[in-house]
Amino acid sequence: MDRQIVLSSFLIAFAAQAQTFQIPTANHALFEKSGEERFFVGTAGKTWTTGTFGCVRMGGWQMHEGLDIRCLQRDKRGEPTDPILATADGTVAYISMRPSLSNYGNYLILRHHVEGLEIYSLYAHLHEVRHDLKVGQAVKAGEPVATMGRTANTRETISKDRAHVHFELNLLVNDRFAAWHKQSVPGQRNDHGEWNGQNLFGIDQKPILLGQHEQGAKFSLLSLLQNQAELCRVLVRKTDFPWLKRYAPLVRPKPLTEKESIAGYEIALNFNGVAFELIPRTASEIKGKAKFQLISVNEAEYARNPGRRLVVKRGNRWELTSHGLNLLELLTY
Ligand SMILES: [Zn+2]
Repeated sequence: MDRQIVLSSFLIAFAAQAQTFQIPTANHALFEKSGEERFFVGTAGKTWTTGTFGCVRMGGWQMHEGLDIRCLQRDKRGEPTDPILATADGTVAYISMRPSLSNYGNYLILRHHVEGLEIYSLYAHLHEVRHDLKVGQAVKAGEPVATMGRTANTRETISKDRAHVHFELNLLVNDRFAAWHKQSVPGQRNDHGEWNGQNLFGIDQKPILLGQHEQGAKFSLLSLLQNQAELCRVLVRKTDFPWLKRYAPLVRPKPLTEKESIAGYEIALNFNGVAFELIPRTASEIKGKAKFQLISVNEAEYARNPGRRLVVKRGNRWELTSHGLNLLELLTY
């Protein structure tokens, strides 16, 4: 190889490394001016915005935790054939090829380590997953891992016209999910262990993909997470739960001057329940005996994104709903 080629392949390798998360198909219309309509697939009869992340369905009251990315390639029968590409370097965490057991249909989850955070990418409605992939196997960013399909167990099927991959970037709430599920909803089936959608909290992928595209190596996922809009702030009387270790960069260090031991955490949640700031608190800082206390609510953020129904205003008092309490139970289990 001459020096020019060595240098350019080094630059390509460097650029690929700087871009942690990539769009998981060849459809890159997201990066084009007014490209959204060619990138997102809306729900039947609705605009492309219903295929984005957030409280985008049922007038804001239903969450969609992923991006529905439009198909580009079809076979003779009109079935989608787009290769699905690993969004980042990682390892295979879970493969489900029993489409009747999930509204994700066939789905694949990959585990990634980014800036000290464990992030899980999820690809749903797949036709098939690459046959040689096994749990624990390493994959490279951009490597084909599956083929787009239309699998789902929902009453309303995905039409050929709406063929897409449902793509998520998630934080994993609790490794003890299966035990928690058994205890909190006895008798209800849990076919996917900890890889149940309820145990994965999605973060909006669009600002991540666009942020990286625009800022390159300067983009920081950690700083994006730390700067989420806050829905509410709660106090929990728990000192040992998996999130504290798995997402340690989101936990503020205990002040050195503090002599008292930690009795709980003050936690900021975004509208989707992601605990993005955790501040250690001592017993004297926690008033009241309740296990979970609501300290504050950002009413403007609630008005924008109410779909998770984590808090509710009764009279002029804000309270945690059963959904909110449930989420905190799982987070701190
Ligand atoms: Zn979707």
